[in-house]
Amino acid sequence: MLGWGWCKNGVTITAPQLLRRAQGQLLTVFHPSQVKFGEPLSRHTYIKTGGPADIAVFPTDGDQVRAAVLTAKQLGLRHWLLGNGSNILVRDGGLRGLTIILTGLSKMRRIEQTVVAQGGVGVIQLAQFALQHQLRGLEFACGIPGTVGAGIRMNAGAYGGQMSDVLARVRVMDGEGEEHMLSAAALGLTYRDSAVETRGWIVLEALFPLAFDDGKAIQERMDHYTHRRRSKQPLNYPSCGSVFKRPRYGFASQMIEESGLKGVRVGGAQVSTKHAGFIVNLGGASTSDYLALIHLVRTTVQKQHGVELELEVKVIGDELSPATGGSG
Ligand SMILES: Cc1cc2nc3c(=O)[nH]c(=O)nc-3n(C[C@H](O)[C@H](O)[C@H](O)COP(=O)(O)OP(=O)(O)OC[C@H]3O[C@@H](n4cnc5c(N)ncnc54)[C@H](O)[C@@H]3O)c2cc1C
Repeated sequence: MLGWGWCKNGVTITAPQLLRRAQGQLLTVFHPSQVKFGEPLSRHTYIKTGGPADIAVFPTDGDQVRAAVLTAKQLGLRHWLLGNGSNILVRDGGLRGLTIILTGLSKMRRIEQTVVAQGGVGVIQLAQFALQHQLRGLEFACGIPGTVGAGIRMNAGAYGGQMSDVLARVRVMDGEGEEHMLSAAALGLTYRDSAVETRGWIVLEALFPLAFDDGKAIQERMDHYTHRRRSKQPLNYPSCGSVFKRPRYGFASQMIEESGLKGVRVGGAQVSTKHAGFIVNLGGASTSDYLALIHLVRTTVQKQHGVELELEVKVIGDELSPATGGSG
């Protein structure tokens, strides 16, 4: 879908020209293997759907993140951030501009009782690292399949714990490529939300001050949460976790189930028969299948319960172009 572009001082620059310029700039900082054209984002979303990124870059340090942000800015391209893609639905037409996939920021270290993790570290790996060092506080996070950066952006949580309980400070980059060290309080962390996105911050690194504890006790708490998760969630299928936020009253999954929607399908997308708050990919689902099913769930729950379910999952990107039937 390269029909876009922009016009400056009467000179039209087409999308392919812009993207080639972006490539030229990026290759001064990135290895060619870290810059991909037309990268299918179904490879990078947990749910395994989503169209292509015009350009996807895979930075491994802050300098590369800065180069990507500034290249996009200088060329008037939009940039998008992706961690593990476990809370995101990318429409089937994909993402225009530059997609920055942050999972390569994967370093972690301990300073006394504090764990310092880069934004692309897996939250599950973070919890395991804390366990190995006999540090308690991150047990709640042991089954959340996202990254530290997005976990902070979403204030991810489970079983009574959330990122805001354990986070002290973060190093972020703003849209100008400047880095700032912020306290957790400056992030405005609330239920599954924060000011990170509205401020245009990219989480590069986070500090979690924890407390020493008996490793066996930490392991037992993690085993308990893992057991609860496995018994309740459809972990054998790709999904994007809880599709809807918890409403002010009641539970989304209960309302969906009571509305008779458990097991309902659109194409390859199905309201999980195990947990109605999850929509799973039975195989071959497209994002439009998901979105059609989400629409059906919301309108049915609205009719039957008078509740407007709010999306927890982020939906981004372009529709598939009907003209081309594809995204190239
Ligand atoms: C099976 C399953 C179980 C789940 N269980 C839970 C649960 O118990 N609790 C819970 O809270 N969530 C849960 N989730 C949802 C999801 O794992 C979390 O929201 C997680 O924090 C998303 O991380 P991610 O790296 O996959 O983010 P992505 O989906 O890649 O991105 C989510 C958002 O964060 C932004 N982002 C990504 N990286 C950064 C960064 N470094 N800096 C700034 N912004 C960034 C993206 O632009 C996007 O807006 C579950 C999901 C699945 C599939």
